[in-house]
Amino acid sequence: TLKGKTAVITGSNSGIGLGVAREMARAGADVVLNSFTDRDEDHALAEEIAKEFSVNARYIQADMSKGEDCRGLIDKAGSCDILINNAGIQHVAPIDEFPLDKWDAIIAINLNSAFHTTAAALPKMRAAGWGRVVNIASAHGLTASPYKSAYVAAKHGVVGMTKTVALETAEEPITANAICPGYVLTPLVEAQIPDTMEKYNMGREEVIKKVMLERQPSREFATVEQLGGTAVFLCSDAAAQITGTTISVDGGWTAL
Ligand code: NAD
Repeated sequence: TLKGKTAVITGSNSGIGLGVAREMARAGADVVLNSFTDRDEDHALAEEIAKEFSVNARYIQADMSKGEDCRGLIDKAGSCDILINNAGIQHVAPIDEFPLDKWDAIIAINLNSAFHTTAAALPKMRAAGWGRVVNIASAHGLTASPYKSAYVAAKHGVVGMTKTVALETAEEPITANAICPGYVLTPLVEAQIPDTMEKYNMGREEVIKKVMLERQPSREFATVEQLGGTAVFLCSDAAAQITGTTISVDGGWTAL
């Protein structure tokens, strides 16, 4: 059980982050939700989790594209025993046409934010005498696809940084690992469907099975609950010697 631990999950008002937050709360952890918006429905998500799982849950607005906001999130959270770096965006374009602002935003949100939050969280974990860093990387942290240069670069960077953090904390009761999901049906993936349909001139189901899940041998999306369960496992005693590595939740993608 994670009772008494506080988990901070970046980018957790939808998709995988929200799913991971719910599984953390189910395991007994207090949770801090985050995104860059500050709407009533964001705070309502935290209230729902608090009620459903009888834990403390808060929503803290912070823009993960800004270093000060990343560090401010950890500061405002108070405790941070478990840090889940999940915030991420995607943009698909050939590298010679890749918009500069998209490149910068992807590197900032998908990679730099994890540097800032980890730097701010490690002193708290050391003071508490226990800590877990779980980075939500991607199958694209281990392998590439065309037209996703910024995303693939950022995710490979996250995997590399995870290993470094693990080495810097190796003799302490702190671990750092990355989860590498294949395709998970979330708003991020949903948003890629219309463009992909147009590009390949295919219908929705055909695009899902033949294009998106083409490299996922199970031909099934992973679920946010499965990713949350994997994160909870990495926080368990059984995983205390698992550090500096990746766990793929990708239906066999990286076995191909
Ligand atoms: P999503 O779009 O549902 O969620 C992304 C989250 O990040 C949202 O909560 C969003 O509000 C937040 N976010 C975006 N910009 C932010 C910013 N500037 N500051 C703070 N928060 C911000 O997408 P998702 O699929 O749940 O993706 C979550 C993570 O999982 C990402 O890092 C993504 O790269 C990774 N991932 C997703 C898949 C997949 O198939 N869905 C596969 C591999 C990896």
